[in-house]
Amino acid sequence: MSRIPRIVILGAGYGGIMAATRLQKELNYNEADVTLVNKHDYHYLTTHLHMPAAGTESAKHVKINILSLIDEFKIDFVKSTVLQIKPNEQKVILSDGTLSYDYLVIGLGGETETFGIPGLKEYALNIRSVNTVNLIREHIEYMFARYKGEPHRTDYLTFVVGGAGFTGIEFVGELVDRMPKLCKQFNVDPSLVKIYNVEAAPTALPGFDPSLVEYAMESLKRRGVIFKLGLPVKECTPEGVLLANGEFIKSQTVVWTGGVRGNRLVEEAGFETSRGRVMVDPYLRTKEKDNVYVVGDCAIVLNPEGRPYPPTAQIAMQQGETVAANLVSVIRGEKQKEFVPNLKGTIASLGRRDGIGIVFKYKVKGLAAVLMKKITDLRYLYLLGGIPLVLRKGRL
Ligand SMILES: Cc1cc2nc3c(=O)[nH]c(=O)nc-3n(C[C@H](O)[C@H](O)[C@H](O)COP(=O)(O)OP(=O)(O)OC[C@H]3O[C@@H](n4cnc5c(N)ncnc54)[C@H](O)[C@@H]3O)c2cc1C
Repeated sequence: MSRIPRIVILGAGYGGIMAATRLQKELNYNEADVTLVNKHDYHYLTTHLHMPAAGTESAKHVKINILSLIDEFKIDFVKSTVLQIKPNEQKVILSDGTLSYDYLVIGLGGETETFGIPGLKEYALNIRSVNTVNLIREHIEYMFARYKGEPHRTDYLTFVVGGAGFTGIEFVGELVDRMPKLCKQFNVDPSLVKIYNVEAAPTALPGFDPSLVEYAMESLKRRGVIFKLGLPVKECTPEGVLLANGEFIKSQTVVWTGGVRGNRLVEEAGFETSRGRVMVDPYLRTKEKDNVYVVGDCAIVLNPEGRPYPPTAQIAMQQGETVAANLVSVIRGEKQKEFVPNLKGTIASLGRRDGIGIVFKYKVKGLAAVLMKKITDLRYLYLLGGIPLVLRKGRL
């Protein structure tokens, strides 16, 4: 390669933006030509999307302008949608052009997995992007407005959240916080509002510490959430959801949080995937092409027990850092390093004033969990954009 190597990063989520900002720091002048592609001109805090979805936070607070994070003298930003990845030709087809690369980083995030359940794709809403959560918030408000015109339609005030994993639990936590304000705004009797959380597994937050799960469920039940556990959704229709026991919940609002898969473009590119996620090698490269790296929700890394780590922002960020370091090493002819996750813990919010989590193996709940989550958020902003970004966005 006589010219300088071309690196293309697809997606400015947690993995992609971290890879880009680390590369701009580490690479010397003219060492590589780096291009970052993302379909929006902003990076968004996916881990906060449950708040604008419920309407407890404005969507503008979860967006960060990409140009405020990168140095345009070092990184080219292309606002475009990736349509196809062609690994054999080392090209990426965008909605408005084609990019060639020597090294590719795929960080296109996840998609909703509906497991083929009839009607979910057509009738359920999902928490995946700023646009989808704006839709949920507006839909909820519209339901209250419609109820005022048709007061016999209590299904307008019935909200079903499918999935009691992290996203589902965090979203119902925000919903129960929002409801009293909406009832007041629309002058609706709060006792008419029903919030169901339906989960196929026998417990909420499967795999989480049982005492913390119990705490979370008690906290949410006290605030009105009705749990339906061990009951898979059989079908979603325009009138509501059918559960495995034959029960039908009439509702005009079904939000599906029950599954995540990798981005379809990755499997369409011909890489071997499991639910759209690539089993990467220890350096985060695909087994088919050693110049293609995959980070975040599109990648699978196994834990010491041989099970995939759950897709999280924490892992995506760390992978972005490792890939940046490995690209610098490859370009300099040095040895690459293996990805070793450094898990600091997990915290789930239960609305604004409650939460649960494990931090460095210690259990936290209540306000301590809320505080730890805030610290985690501030740390991320600091890693991404230093003190200026913390000052600009830290009020979240
Ligand atoms: C409500 C919610 C709460 C969560 N809470 C937590 C939490 O508390 N802690 C935690 O660690 N994890 C949490 N997660 C999981 C975490 O957000 C994801 O694991 C993380 O966002 C994955 O990062 P990523 O870089 O792979 O992708 P993403 O952050 O999803 O970014 C993907 C990027 O690719 C762009 N993109 C997608 N398709 C295209 C295309 N075709 N062309 C161009 N650009 C494209 C998108 O616009 C986006 O910018 C939560 C997730 C949700 C939904």
